[in-house]
Amino acid sequence: MREQGETTAAVFCHARGCHHSAVISTDRFPADLPFPDIALRVRCSACGSREVGVMKDMRAHYARCRSGAGPMAELPPDYRVIGRDVPWPDEQA
Ligand SMILES: [Zn+2]
Repeated sequence: MREQGETTAAVFCHARGCHHSAVISTDRFPADLPFPDIALRVRCSACGSREVGVMKDMRAHYARCRSGAGPMAELPPDYRVIGRDVPWPDEQA
């Protein structure tokens, strides 16, 4: 995952009636953590559920493709990146 330049992941809450979604930074997960395992390490910030799914962050992917700045480019400023590790995202800045 890190080798592909991925620094974020899109996560979705599957809890009934919640559907919260967010983009999280992956830079504090172990580099060898399999991508799907991120879902096991985060928790919904809206309802606290652990029924979380994770997907490749396609918005970041497309944004970087559009800008032509390469895979390590800065994300758009409207990008809301929350939570980096367990618990998600209750840590204080
Ligand atoms: Zn939720």
